[in-house]
Amino acid sequence: MEFSSKLLEKAVNEISQLPGIGKRTALRLVLHLLKQPKEQTSFLTQALVNMREEIKFCESCHNISDTAICEICSNKNRNHQLVCVVEDIRDVMAIENTGQFKGIYHVLGGKISPIDGVGPSQLKISSLVEKVKSGQLTEVIFALSSTMEGDTTNFYIYKQIADSGIIISTIARGIAVGDELEYADEVTLGRSILQRLPFEKAIKNN
Ligand SMILES: [Zn+2]
Repeated sequence: MEFSSKLLEKAVNEISQLPGIGKRTALRLVLHLLKQPKEQTSFLTQALVNMREEIKFCESCHNISDTAICEICSNKNRNHQLVCVVEDIRDVMAIENTGQFKGIYHVLGGKISPIDGVGPSQLKISSLVEKVKSGQLTEVIFALSSTMEGDTTNFYIYKQIADSGIIISTIARGIAVGDELEYADEVTLGRSILQRLPFEKAIKNN
C-alpha cells in the first residue's frame, strides 16, 4: 500500500496490528476518524491509554477490575462459598447476563494447551486449589468450554481438589461440544448452571 502521508501510514500500520483488521480496514477506520471532530480521536485514544494504565486484576478471583477487589467479590449478597471456574472475563459476562448465578468466580486466564505452550503454571490454578484447601468453599463448578483444552484443565484441577470433600460439579451441557460459553444463548446457559452435574458423573459419560 502506497501512502501519500507518513502520518497516515503510521496510524494505519498501528491499527492493522489488531486481530482481524487488515490494512484496508485500518485505512477505512483512519479515514473515518479524519472526518470526525478531533475530540473524537482524543476520547478514543484517552480511553485506550486509561484502560491500559489503570486496569487491575482482582486479587481474589483474577477477573479484570477497576479496583483491587472486584465488584462481584466485594458483594456481600453473593454466596462466597460457591465458586464458578471460568477461562476469562467473557465467560463471567456471559454467566452474569443470565442472572442465574449468585456465587463468585475464579478466572483462570486461559486453558491448559500444550500446543499453544500454555501449561498449568501460567494459569491461576494454585490460588484456586489454596482456596479449596483453606476450607472456605462448599462447591466448585467447572464452566470451561467443552473442548479438549477445557476438559484437560478441568481434570487437572479436579485431581488436585478431589479429596477435599467439597462438591465438584460441571455445568450441564445444552451447549454443543466445542461451543464457547460466550456464544451460548442466555436461557440455555442459565439453565445449564442451575442444572449442573457432579463432575465425576460427567467424566464417566465421556
Ligand atoms: Zn473478584
